[in-house]
Amino acid sequence: MTERVLGHYPVDVRPIDIARYREGNTGVPYVHLLDSGTTGPTTMLQAITHGNELCGVHALDYLLREKIKPAAGKLIVAFANVDAYARFDFDDPDASRYIDEDYNRVWADEVLFGARDSAELRRARKLQPFVDMADFLLDIHSMHEPCRPIMVCGMVDKHVALARKVGVPADLLVDTGHPAGVRMRDRGSFNDPASPRSALLIECGQHWEKTAVDVAIDTMLRFLAAVDQIPFASIEPRLRIIPPPRQRVIRVTEPVVAKSMNFEFVVPLEGLGIVATAGTPIARDGETVWSAPYDDTVLVMPSTRHLKPGNTQVRFGRYED
Ligand SMILES: [Zn+2]
Repeated sequence: MTERVLGHYPVDVRPIDIARYREGNTGVPYVHLLDSGTTGPTTMLQAITHGNELCGVHALDYLLREKIKPAAGKLIVAFANVDAYARFDFDDPDASRYIDEDYNRVWADEVLFGARDSAELRRARKLQPFVDMADFLLDIHSMHEPCRPIMVCGMVDKHVALARKVGVPADLLVDTGHPAGVRMRDRGSFNDPASPRSALLIECGQHWEKTAVDVAIDTMLRFLAAVDQIPFASIEPRLRIIPPPRQRVIRVTEPVVAKSMNFEFVVPLEGLGIVATAGTPIARDGETVWSAPYDDTVLVMPSTRHLKPGNTQVRFGRYED
């Protein structure tokens, strides 16, 4: 056995038929450009980076159906891995995550402009000019396991400032990137502290839970207001969720990577659960034991459903305040 995938959660969110969005106005299928005709930022909203994550599709569908337009600058609306999404299967909903490889690990120049080929690389090469054009990016995702929403602010603190302007969700994650490859949100000058460009990735909740759709829509609308593209007063009546009284930063310090199929957790798991005491064993794999590196260690996106040697099964982090 080289991989273990346990059964899936109920699918309470339906995939939307997005065929009507195929014909955009950019020459690239499923990419739309809404131009206010006035100066302002260029912003990009993206859904289905992972084909099994449905909430972002609902958010972009809402935006386009309701004809929400930028009051300033240009807004790019992109459905990313549409070929994977087209394979969505209620009996095996995780299978549509990607076709050949993870679309969100191919964003280094040497990969994008290299010789390698895959379904995801072909799509990423089409979307790259839009990503590089954007001053602000919001990439809409969801998670394997039930968990409070998390804003992934990448590796540079400037994104935390933007997430605070957005005002949701309560938990803001500063992490260490992804060892398997560069994410879209970490590409190029998004990762440069001196550049004003800024990118956020919202994890809205479990892939197929209904509230993830509300989180996706609210975060998208608040994001457009935060980058001064739409006045807050015009999105406010559409908001569905009361914002948290405060936002806290969790700084990831280390990933926990399975070495073998013997990997197991030895504490009860909960997304953003806290292990109170430093030294408490959290997981083991043969002789290797991972213990809480400090008091109040936060378990960031622990996963037991997808076990595979080399997989990050959890990341350890701590609240900064
Ligand atoms: Zn995702």
